[in-house]
Amino acid sequence: MTGRTRVGIVGAGPAGMLVAVLLQRAGIDCVVVERRDRAHVEQRARGAAVEHRVVELLRRHDLAGGLLAAGAVQDRIEFRMGGRRYPLAYHPVAAAHGHFVYPQQYLVRDLVDVFLAAGGDLRFETPASTVTDLDGDRPVIRLGGAAGPSELRCDVVVGADGEYGVVRRAIPRAALTIHEHQYDYAWLAVLAEAAPSSDCVVNAIHASGACVHVRRTPTVSRFYLQCPREDSRADWPDERIWKEIRLRLALDEPWTLNEGPILSTSSVRMRSLVCAPLRYGPVFLVGDAAHVVPLVGGKGFNLALADAEELALALVERFTGGRPARLDAYSETRLARVWRAQEFVGWMMDLVNTPAPGIREAPFLHRLQRARLERLVESPAYAAAFLQDYIGWD
Ligand SMILES: Cc1cc2nc3c(=O)[nH]c(=O)nc-3n(C[C@H](O)[C@H](O)[C@H](O)COP(=O)(O)OP(=O)(O)OC[C@H]3O[C@@H](n4cnc5c(N)ncnc54)[C@H](O)[C@@H]3O)c2cc1C
Repeated sequence: MTGRTRVGIVGAGPAGMLVAVLLQRAGIDCVVVERRDRAHVEQRARGAAVEHRVVELLRRHDLAGGLLAAGAVQDRIEFRMGGRRYPLAYHPVAAAHGHFVYPQQYLVRDLVDVFLAAGGDLRFETPASTVTDLDGDRPVIRLGGAAGPSELRCDVVVGADGEYGVVRRAIPRAALTIHEHQYDYAWLAVLAEAAPSSDCVVNAIHASGACVHVRRTPTVSRFYLQCPREDSRADWPDERIWKEIRLRLALDEPWTLNEGPILSTSSVRMRSLVCAPLRYGPVFLVGDAAHVVPLVGGKGFNLALADAEELALALVERFTGGRPARLDAYSETRLARVWRAQEFVGWMMDLVNTPAPGIREAPFLHRLQRARLERLVESPAYAAAFLQDYIGWD
C-alpha cells in the first residue's frame, strides 16, 4: 500500500513532534511515523533541563503551557569537590533568563496532544525500515508494523529518529562527514523514587568519578554516576549505587540525601557526534539523528527542539511562500549552533569527569578541575560566560 504526504517525519520524539505541530499549524500536510507505542513515547524519561532560548521558542509558538505550569524554575547550579560546595547563583547576571526543569516526556506528551487534537496523522507502532528514492524528487519511507509492509511517498523526509535511526543510514555514506569523539567512560543513569535532595542541579567532581544529581519531579530524582564503559547493570546492585552517590556527593557540612526505590537504570555511552551536512537532497536530519552530545550540560534535547523549529519554519517558507533560501541555509545555520554546544559540553566533560584512574596526569588534571571551579565562583566574567552557554541565551 502506498500513501502520499508532503512531509514524512520519522520519529515522534521532541524534534519530530515539534516539526509536525509547526507544519500542521501552517497547513502543510505531514505524517509522523513512530516505531513505539504512545505510552512508551510519553513515558520515556530522558532529558529535562530546558534552556532559556527553548523556553522562549515554546512561548513564541504558544506551546509553553505545560512547562510554565509544572516546570521547576532554576536559579542556581552547584558544583561539589573535596567536601566543599561551589554554588553559582544566576542572579544578577542571568536573572532575566528562564531556565527550567521539565521532563522531556511531558513536553512530548504536550506536543502529541496538540497534534492529535488538531487532527494530525501520527502512526504509532509503525517503524520505518529505510528511506529509498533519495536521488529523485519523491523519496519513499518504507514502513513495517502490525498492519504489514507499506510505503509513504513524500516531497520531503525528516529524519527525527534519534541516535540510531534509519534515515541517516539511508543517506549514501560518501555524502556525509561524521565527526565523532568517544570518551573512555560511560555514565550510569539512575532514576529513583526519591524527593530531590537539592532544588538545583548538583555536579560533584570526585576521584571515584563524577556524580550529578538533578530534580525531575517533586517525588522523582535523577542521578548520573561516571563508570567504566564496560560495566553492566550486574556491576551496580542498588546498594552500590547508593553507596557511590553518598560518597561522591558528600559534604563536610550536614546535608541529607533522600533515597528511595530505584525505578530504572541505563548505561549511557559518552560520545559526541556531528554529521554534516544535515541535508541530502529532499532528506533533512534533526536532533539526535544529526548530532549527539554527552548528557552533561543538558544540551541534546534543547538542540533537537531548536533544529526542529528552524527546519519547520524553513519548510513553511519553502512550501507556502516559494522561498527556498532558509531551507537551503538550514544545515549551515544549525551546524554553527551545534558546534558551539559541542564546545561547551566538551569543556563541561573535562570539568566534571575524573580522568581514567591510574593515568600519570590524573592528579594534575584533578587539580586543574579545582582551579576551574575556584575561578567560576570567584570571577564574575568567567561565571557570566559559563552561564550564558549553560542557561542558553544569545
Ligand atoms: C538518560 C538520558 C538523559 C538525558 N538528559 C538530557 C538532559 O537533561 N537535557 C538534554 O537536553 N538532553 C538530555 N538527553 C538527551 C536527549 O534526551 C536527546 O537529545 C533527545 O531525546 C533528542 O530528541 P530527538 O527527538 O532528536 O530524538 P529521540 O528523543 O531519540 O526520539 C527519536 C524517536 O524516533 C523513534 N524512532 C527511532 N527509530 C525509528 C524508526 N526506524 N521508525 C520510526 N520511529 C523511530 C524513537 O522511538 C523515538 O521516539 C538525555 C538522554 C538520555 C538517554
